[in-house]
Amino acid sequence: MTTITRFAPSPTGTLHVGNIRTALHNWMLARKSGGRFILRIDDTDAARSEERFVEAIRADLDWLGLAPDGEERQSARLDLYDTAFEKLKAAGRVYPAYETQQELELKRKIQLGRGLPPIYDRGALKLSDEERAAKEAEGIAPHWRFKLDHEEIIDWEDGIRGPQKFDPAQLSDPVIRRADGSWLYMLPSAVDDIDMGITDVLRGEDHVSNTAVQKQMFDALHDVGFDHSECPVHDACPHFAHEALLVGKEGKLSKRLGSLGCDAFREQGIEPEALIAMLARLGTSLPVEPIADRDVLLQTFDLSTFGRAPAKFDHAELERVNTAIVHAMEFAEVADRLPEGIDAAGWHAIRPNLTTVGEAAEWWQLVVGPIDARAFDEDDRTYLAEAAEMLAWSETPWQDLTGALKEATGRKGKALFLPLRQALTGKDHGPDMGELLPLIGEDRARERLKSAAAD
Ligand code: GLU
Repeated sequence: MTTITRFAPSPTGTLHVGNIRTALHNWMLARKSGGRFILRIDDTDAARSEERFVEAIRADLDWLGLAPDGEERQSARLDLYDTAFEKLKAAGRVYPAYETQQELELKRKIQLGRGLPPIYDRGALKLSDEERAAKEAEGIAPHWRFKLDHEEIIDWEDGIRGPQKFDPAQLSDPVIRRADGSWLYMLPSAVDDIDMGITDVLRGEDHVSNTAVQKQMFDALHDVGFDHSECPVHDACPHFAHEALLVGKEGKLSKRLGSLGCDAFREQGIEPEALIAMLARLGTSLPVEPIADRDVLLQTFDLSTFGRAPAKFDHAELERVNTAIVHAMEFAEVADRLPEGIDAAGWHAIRPNLTTVGEAAEWWQLVVGPIDARAFDEDDRTYLAEAAEMLAWSETPWQDLTGALKEATGRKGKALFLPLRQALTGKDHGPDMGELLPLIGEDRARERLKSAAAD
């Protein structure tokens, strides 16, 4: 059976690192078994959903290399939810409720005041036909709740959390539809998971109690004959797995993390592959390593390695992974992002000094100039004048020059190399001079040595 996963963001904002992680893991789950990964835009909330966010989500997935195999949107599937709703209503599994927000809030307060859990008291189910008619006559349109089956204990084997058990009597019958006919998240999601043949629902542990409710929805939908026609597994329902949430390094859910998205990562020079390598393994028992090859990440991806403790997102760790990934990137992968003039040899020379690809321009400056002027003492000036004289061009000008200078002056180590590096690049540290000098070229090199000697 083909694995089918989905990533179901609501387009009420851009993706943040937590959503990105969920998208990645669903992508991996599907890819690992040659399955399908679907992007489902959960846009039933017309007031808060915006097209620009749909576009941003697509663009982010594209940048991350997590292209979906298909895209669906809930706003185009409202008829299907109506069909499911009518079936459930006919079977007595959804019921109208008339309480206002204030009434519900008051009920909650009273329950909490008595030390009781704030579970909906099913007041609406106790209304007589006359009472209901009276409400309607007053012009109060009902909202709709799904009626949980209190006789049916809810349990499932969670792919990450292990055996899960819920007593439905401890849960409120969820509101699934507003008085204006619009949908809340709960039912459309279950309907779609059935209709799209989703085999695995992998999401954050903040959805565990939603899953408990949706488990009963799957069963209720099945009982009323709403099944995926070609996918008998939905006689049961998808496998569920809930991953521990992502927290900041300090162990708390931080606001910063909640708004950290692809734009910010791009601006910081974080490569998508670095983010992927880190998020693929964060919160698992596998080490986070700078693995740019997704096949390697896929081979080791396994829900059984996921822990229950919150996964800690440490920005410094991401930067380390990024640096290592940049150091291993081939010229062809970055060519179109480099400043004019850098060729494969140039990239190779400066790559080990970079923490981001964007820094290449700064290092390339050492080749094309202008470079920082340095002040040298008299001794060094004499030495540099000699270097300018002795500079000869070959395949290996740096080795030749330093070899000849060592012999001629008796200098060695730092005294031999540092003034040359300073005069040729304006810096104390930097790329390997053996690679850099051929890029600087004979004329520029001689000129820089002469000018340093003259100062
Ligand atoms: N739209 C829901 C959310 O963003 C989807 C949750 C789910 O995966 O079912 O939280």
